[in-house]
Amino acid sequence: MEKRQEIYRGKAKTVYATDDPQRLVMHYRDDVSAFDGAKLAKLDRKGETNNRINAWVMGKLAEAGIGTHFVSLLNERESLVKAMKMIPVECVVRNVCAGSMAKRYGIEEGTRLPEPIFEFFLKSDALHDPLVNDDHIRVLEWATEAEIAQMKALTHRVNALLKPLFANAGIDLVDYKLEFGHPLDDPQGELVLGDEFTPDGCRLWDAKTGEKLDKDRFRRDLGEVIEHYREVGRRIGVPL
Ligand code: UDP
Repeated sequence: MEKRQEIYRGKAKTVYATDDPQRLVMHYRDDVSAFDGAKLAKLDRKGETNNRINAWVMGKLAEAGIGTHFVSLLNERESLVKAMKMIPVECVVRNVCAGSMAKRYGIEEGTRLPEPIFEFFLKSDALHDPLVNDDHIRVLEWATEAEIAQMKALTHRVNALLKPLFANAGIDLVDYKLEFGHPLDDPQGELVLGDEFTPDGCRLWDAKTGEKLDKDRFRRDLGEVIEHYREVGRRIGVPL
């Protein structure tokens, strides 16, 4: 595999083409952003930390039979992934009320939910990722009814798998965001998980103390962001 030109630069990752049109290199940078790019910084070792945590999580999902775009770790900051056609919505599952849901409905952050709540958001920084429902997605043709059902089922399956894995490491999986797509080499097949699963895209609280171990440390200026990301990694068994 040969790495070729940059094809996309996101807020925290850069994607490169390879000599195989079905494969891309995902490069995790040290950049961190919040509030749709309004707050930006660089955090030393963030790229390598997230690359390793993501590889570990994707491996666990694959073992459980959940399809992902992850192919292999290439080096400290890069992973090889399948090229995908992404669905332009974000799938969020919440086990505990926090963040935008707490604000939207005036519910105290930290309120435990009797069962997980699923939410869709349109992926659009310009529109600040508005909450959308199944009808918006289907009628406006961002995804089909079958794809909507698959995104929900897969996001719940990820929860059923990851919640106990984090709990065993003394970590509460509060909420997280997933993105799905179709691999270019299987455009009609089942959706597979794309993007990443790292402390940038989920909320993780210490099960005993409630201390935040995720990107809220950056959003809310709590300090020692990467130290806490690495603590998450070490607790779940990622060599960091
Ligand atoms: N999230 C994300 N990217 C987004 C929006 C949310 O990774 O563009 C994650 C976020 O880190 C949290 C979960 O999805 O773990 C739910 O986020 P929420 O809707 O509460 O929004 P926030 O207040 O974090 O912007």
